[in-house]
Amino acid sequence: MSIEINNISKNFNENKALNKISFKAFPGDIVGVLGPNGAGKSTMMKIITGYYKQDEGDVFVCKKNTLENEIYTKKKIGYLSEENPLYLDMYVLEFLEFVCDIHKIEHINCKKMMNLTELNKVKNKKIKTLSKGFQQRVGIAQALIHNPEVIILDEPTSGLDPKQLIEIREIIKNIGKEKTILLSTHIIQEVEAMCNKVIMLNEGKIIINKKINDFDNKIENVFLELIK
Ligand code: ADP
Ligand code: MG
Repeated sequence: MSIEINNISKNFNENKALNKISFKAFPGDIVGVLGPNGAGKSTMMKIITGYYKQDEGDVFVCKKNTLENEIYTKKKIGYLSEENPLYLDMYVLEFLEFVCDIHKIEHINCKKMMNLTELNKVKNKKIKTLSKGFQQRVGIAQALIHNPEVIILDEPTSGLDPKQLIEIREIIKNIGKEKTILLSTHIIQEVEAMCNKVIMLNEGKIIINKKINDFDNKIENVFLELIK
């Protein structure tokens, strides 16, 4: 098992951002996380990465408790946050080498990543000159460069044009074969195209946790019915 969360809650003052949520994910899973704005998707992801600490409950990444094994579990995770924070004044290759240095891994890993995400053409360009689609690729490359087992992508395709969207989906599908991916999105068709499982969050609770193949109805209809 790669991710297990048990009874996680997180409050921001009076606001129950997450209310006793639990789920499991396994190697090979690409889990689509759906839910309206404010449902708690990003908060759940940040808790798994260790960026936020939960108020109650346990998180296990690669079978280890994240609070008791912070460094170990963080090494196992690759994370692209919703904001995709990048150093815009750095060149693409320079930035990826910098990320290698942070992880204390060889720069040779940049080459592999640039091949996977097709960044070779732009490796000597400043990040701020790249299109949104290419900036997302840089974000994905930095999330994967240390070969993590668990990959958490918070709205990785938001703001992309249709061509970029298809390309990024292909990249994600390819890496998903041997890893565990958690991916949030507003595009239900994207979940149908890429994921084998779906988690739906609403008002801090998991209202659905199902394999794609187990839906009798269109996911969109199920979703709209539940958040009415
Ligand atoms: P989603 O990603 O599903 O849109 P979030 O996890 O970002 O939802 O937010 C869930 C709830 O928690 C929202 O009500 C949001 O306002 C609140 N929240 C998230 N982060 C913070 C924070 N750092 N401080 C205060 N409230 C927060
Ligand atoms: Mg969010």
